[in-house]
Amino acid sequence: MKLGIVGLPNVGKSTLFNAITQAGAESANYPFCTIEPNIGVVAVPDNRLQFLKDLYQSEKVIPAAIEFYDIAGLVRGASKGEGLGNKFLSHIREVASILQVVRCFEDSNITHVDGDVNPLRDIETINLELIFSDLEMVERRVQKTEKLVKGDKSLLPELSLLKRLQAALEEGLSARSLEYTEEEQELLKTFGLLSMKPIIYVANVAEDEVADEGVNNPHVQRLREFAKTEDAEVVVICAKIEAEIAELDEEEKEIFLEELGLQQSGLDRLVQASYSLLGLISYLTAGPKEVRAWTIKRGTKAPQAAGKIHTDFERGFIRAEVVAYNDLVNCGTHAAAKEKGLVRLEGKEYIVQDGDVILFRFNV
Ligand code: GDP
Repeated sequence: MKLGIVGLPNVGKSTLFNAITQAGAESANYPFCTIEPNIGVVAVPDNRLQFLKDLYQSEKVIPAAIEFYDIAGLVRGASKGEGLGNKFLSHIREVASILQVVRCFEDSNITHVDGDVNPLRDIETINLELIFSDLEMVERRVQKTEKLVKGDKSLLPELSLLKRLQAALEEGLSARSLEYTEEEQELLKTFGLLSMKPIIYVANVAEDEVADEGVNNPHVQRLREFAKTEDAEVVVICAKIEAEIAELDEEEKEIFLEELGLQQSGLDRLVQASYSLLGLISYLTAGPKEVRAWTIKRGTKAPQAAGKIHTDFERGFIRAEVVAYNDLVNCGTHAAAKEKGLVRLEGKEYIVQDGDVILFRFNV
């Protein structure tokens, strides 16, 4: 699962990305992740794993992870091919969701490309590039569909959706700001619109503003109001502090956070927000060798969840032996949970829940 970090120059992207790679999970544990200089892998914080490690006396813990993709190079005019324009846009196409870093800190030593700090203008600059790129695609598709629809009336709903999108994009609205029927949502998946991608706005604030999440920062207030209109989330961080935190070990990190009056690092909050924005949950496997969290989309059935571990597990799926994490904690041991009938045997139609501790049975 890849998230793309975008933003104008000098807003703090590299600082944040460096913090991500510094804090980075050991990539050896994540063979599925792409290892490239502009990709950072971050573990998803999950307190449940330590409990399971103690319970099963496991050798190691492998948390779930998400990948952050540093997509630098967006400037005004990217959709017209300025700067790294087209390359940039094709990178955005690959990510599941967008993290847009927005500068909310004032610092006269660090110039802003457009003169002053103004998050809404910055957001508009970036979003317009995505909108222009989408508009071009939609216009082409409208023309094509208008021809085809003459011989195939079943394309009428698609044409009407395309026209509605065209009108919105022409007005400078992101595709994500419209409402869609279920049928339209299916169609949209085939369009691959950039301005449809879920987005988190990362408000980069000054060091002394992060503890109260920038409540007194007018830039953050305006950003929050705007994000509401898009149903987008805002995560307030201080990239500079994140870079410092990333250099600390676990214990030092806790002390430092406490001094700052923070419960969690900004990066941890960002990872969790990203996870939930994408509708992701974790199920867990536990044994003496390792405890591991596996990422699935909410609503995934048992065989497909098993397929995350190995395709053989999906193909040869027989059943899943499931106990909810909380039941396991309440009972103390797996055996006690079993005695109380809380270890269930689930079949192919079972929808895996967040925190399910699972043992899959399968044929090879
Ligand atoms: P990028 O161009 O978006 O990648 O921005 P950088 O990460 O290179 O940051 C641009 C400048 O802003 C650098 O000098 C950073 O040290 C500084 N910077 C980044 N985050 C913060 C912050 O939270 N507070 C302050 N005061 N400066 C920051």
